[in-house]
Amino acid sequence: MLRKVVIANRGEIALRILRACRELGIGTVAVHSTADRQQTHVLLADESVCIGPPPSNASYLNMPAIISAAEVTDAVAIHPGYGFLAENADFAESVEQSGFTFIGPRPETIRLMGDKISAKNAMLEAGVPCVPGSDGAIGRDTDDNMALARDIGFPVMIKAAGGGGGRGMRVIHDEESLEESIALTRQEADAAFGDATLYMEKYLAGPRHIEFQVLADEHGNCIHLGERDCSMQRRHQKVIEESPAPGITAEQRAEMGAVCVRACQEIGYRGAGTMEFLYENGEFFFIEMNTRIQVEHPVTEAVTGIDLVRAQMQVAAGEKLPWTQDDIEIRGHSIECRVNAEDPEKFIPSPGTVTQWHQPGGPGVRVDSHLYSGYTVPPYYDSLIAKLITHAETRKMALARMRNTLSEVVIEGIRTNVPLLQDLCNDTKFSEGAVEIHYLEKRLGL
Ligand code: ADP
Repeated sequence: MLRKVVIANRGEIALRILRACRELGIGTVAVHSTADRQQTHVLLADESVCIGPPPSNASYLNMPAIISAAEVTDAVAIHPGYGFLAENADFAESVEQSGFTFIGPRPETIRLMGDKISAKNAMLEAGVPCVPGSDGAIGRDTDDNMALARDIGFPVMIKAAGGGGGRGMRVIHDEESLEESIALTRQEADAAFGDATLYMEKYLAGPRHIEFQVLADEHGNCIHLGERDCSMQRRHQKVIEESPAPGITAEQRAEMGAVCVRACQEIGYRGAGTMEFLYENGEFFFIEMNTRIQVEHPVTEAVTGIDLVRAQMQVAAGEKLPWTQDDIEIRGHSIECRVNAEDPEKFIPSPGTVTQWHQPGGPGVRVDSHLYSGYTVPPYYDSLIAKLITHAETRKMALARMRNTLSEVVIEGIRTNVPLLQDLCNDTKFSEGAVEIHYLEKRLGL
């Protein structure tokens, strides 16, 4: 096993990784900014290294500082978590070139999947169904782009090849706005991602977001762990996730899962990964692959009984996957709610000191959170402060359990989106089954 791991992240995921390391007897090094000295995982880690001031650019995105921390603490591997440097191929490469193990896919895989155009091409080649659209990047010729959009059929979506985090995409409803919208998206993409490359896709009117979890070792073994439905979104950001996806049959799961596994084997995938699809009228369309652990991984852990973060460590240590596809069974239903430090109506971040934190519990309830009474949520980072996960025999019971879990939460001193989550868990449409990706925004009147 790995002897000592640097946890290059913060918040709930850093604590999640620390716990997995502890269970495997792996030493832990927390790297943190000056704003995060009092983070739970920093206080619990065997060692900690301050890597810079609060802004992420100077700390959690500071590659040399993180690699130096691994050097001075004599660690052997770096776990990037999600966000920050998790999908930065240059970072993964620097980590490996410095003689450490990067807990994630090979740098070239991250690079291939990080560019959405090359990712889509690789998937098409591997026989994965994709959203109909341009064959690669679009050019700057207005007539060509108009012909392409007409061919695809309005509405279309313009996306940045280097986009991520729900940014760098724009819906175009009619011919009149095509040229201007492309120009605007190009400017934004250039400014945000340093890459002005765009592509065009059919804009699906009411799909669901369904993603498949995969796990591969470096010996060519790969399995899937079923799917998650993450359709409850606001600004392309997930709010509630669940597994399995309502209405997806065992046959569909087996069929799409096999498509994903084959594609991963074809690109030589290693580690945990997620293939994201839009699902409309019974059809799946690939949109992108995330080459890291995801926020919503606990719902898959609940229904499969597999510890994905532990599996990441085992694969990184060069071990073979201890499971075959036949070992994977989906049991019951699991739902996750993301609790954010934000105003529940206006969605403005609400940092500050948590004066009271009461953690819910009971059978089938998991809480992934770094909060404690007296903890101060800094204003510099993502507003996710807790994930509430319930698991039960049926979706109905998992949802009932979630309603109760939400009613037990006490977070005082800051504002949170718990009232919104409560509202959504009582929503008739959501209770009946999956909603489509635009449902929440329509409901919020956006
Ligand atoms: P990001 O990398 O920024 O997360 P994705 O490609 O995963 O971007 O898309 C994020 C979300 O945007 C999807 O979950 C979906 O809600 C919406 N979306 C993306 N592509 C399309 C499309 N072709 N039609 C409709 N909605 C889309």
